[in-house]
Amino acid sequence: MQLEIDLAGQRVVIVGAARASRRVVARYRAAGADVECVAAESIDAVDLAATRLVVLVGGGHDGIEAGETLQERCRSEGVLFSREAGAVGPGQVTLVGGGPGALGLLTLDAAAALQDADVVLYDRLAPTRDLAALAPAAELVDVGKLPGHHRVPQSGINDLLVQHALAGRHVVRLKGGDPFVFGRGSEELAACLAEGVPCRVVPGVSSAISVPAAAGIPVTHRGVSHLFTVVSGHAPLTDEEHLHLAGLGGTIVVLMGVSTLPHLVAGLGRAGMRPDMPVAVVERGYSASQRTTAGTLATIVTAAGAARCQSPAVLVIGEVVRVGLELQGGAMHLARLTESLAS
Ligand code: SAH
Repeated sequence: MQLEIDLAGQRVVIVGAARASRRVVARYRAAGADVECVAAESIDAVDLAATRLVVLVGGGHDGIEAGETLQERCRSEGVLFSREAGAVGPGQVTLVGGGPGALGLLTLDAAAALQDADVVLYDRLAPTRDLAALAPAAELVDVGKLPGHHRVPQSGINDLLVQHALAGRHVVRLKGGDPFVFGRGSEELAACLAEGVPCRVVPGVSSAISVPAAAGIPVTHRGVSHLFTVVSGHAPLTDEEHLHLAGLGGTIVVLMGVSTLPHLVAGLGRAGMRPDMPVAVVERGYSASQRTTAGTLATIVTAAGAARCQSPAVLVIGEVVRVGLELQGGAMHLARLTESLAS
């Protein structure tokens, strides 16, 4: 039976476990009802004063008898009563790209997944500051890895995703940038699918493009660079790779590259890249302490060392760095920097 009742402004009491009732609560709130939630254990203490409707969510096993008593009370006090099954079905995982850290660069799909999450597994590069508000119903678990301090190993994260989902929860795995750009998102997807857990991917705004943009540097520019390559600097590249990169003649964007910068610069130099090729290090994009250190292939190691550049940072190698600085009236800055460090 389906009844249409106008519940706007009406008091609705929802009785049940918080997790199972979450979607039911959201539905009645969306209908404009004045919702009060009562834990299943407090079923006898439900106050029915001025209540239009009582909804019992779940109410399985030992709740049945108490539910019948509640239904009886509702009947005698003229309050509507209904039962709903609640949300206990198979769980799911959503791998969400959170963008480079600015709330405005979170996608609408990412925000919707967080809003619906029962548990959020996040790490430090994700936009975590507003997480409690974005995922109001979720347990928040920090599985972040600081360089050198692997807090939860990848296999542990995979296990957590699967376990939470198998327990019927909607798990959001929130990652910085895009889940499939050096984010191990594909490994997590594989782990879920191997256990039969439904898994969806919400792409994010990758730092590879957005962090240079935050510093005003376009990764391509007509007539200057018609390609860009995104490289991980996590492990030092081989000389063959340096040769290929230098030979491409376009923009090179390096993530996780602060500690391997000297190795990369030396390798690109050996591979024939011009010493006056502009290079920028953009640290902590979209944070209050965002900073750009610019130089050339010949000067950047000294400049980055003097400025004590640190991870997280995106390196940009190519003429587009000059374009970006020119757009901001900073070309003189690069010219001066080149001269002063070369002399
Ligand atoms: N999946 C992510 C990248 C993960 S690798 C993405 O698509 O953006 C982590 C690296 O990303 C960091 O070492 C750094 O190089 C870069 N990074 C991510 N967020 C950044 C930010 N806000 N500022 C500077 N670099 C950032």
